[in-house]
Amino acid sequence: MRAYIGLGSNLADPVEQVKTAISHLQQLPDSELIAWSSLYASPPMGPQDQPDYINAVVEVKTTLTALQLLDALQAIEQQQGRIRNRHWGERTLDLDVLLYGQEVIDDARLQIPHPGLALRAFVLYPLAEIKPDLTVPNLGQIQQLLQNCPQDSLRKLEKIVL
Ligand code: ADP
Ligand code: MG
Repeated sequence: MRAYIGLGSNLADPVEQVKTAISHLQQLPDSELIAWSSLYASPPMGPQDQPDYINAVVEVKTTLTALQLLDALQAIEQQQGRIRNRHWGERTLDLDVLLYGQEVIDDARLQIPHPGLALRAFVLYPLAEIKPDLTVPNLGQIQQLLQNCPQDSLRKLEKIVL
């Protein structure tokens, strides 16, 4: 299965957090890292009294189930010292399963496609960078989604060398 994972960090050297997370994603069991986007910087959603975020999206080929993948991502979040506090508050690392093949999943722990996907420039632009011809289940062509989601203050930074 091809899965797309969104990364975000705004604490404790966010660029390093995202790079470290991508190197952890390279070691996911039963999986192969296929592609990764540039880094992006974006202003926070929700509370504005927190630093800007660094975001990226990666593509993995995996035989993990979607829930196994979520478990693995949550383990990486914990490993990188994630503390959960206020809703949409600052965090050292957030890893979201954006897409799992063309599957639509509505589980208590896991909604796929990720509910915020079409509304968030910091998800759509890096996703389109690595998969410009993507079709998102229930939502359609990514190029169409981009047209409806202004880039606003999203800034494209460097591409990571692994
Ligand atoms: P958020 O990403 O919305 O800021 P969290 O990372 O704290 O918030 O996630 C809260 C919960 O979201 C997790 O416990 C997880 O079970 C659930 N969740 C639902 N769908 C997804 C998904 N597609 N990817 C990651 N987590 C998800
Ligand atoms: Mg999350």
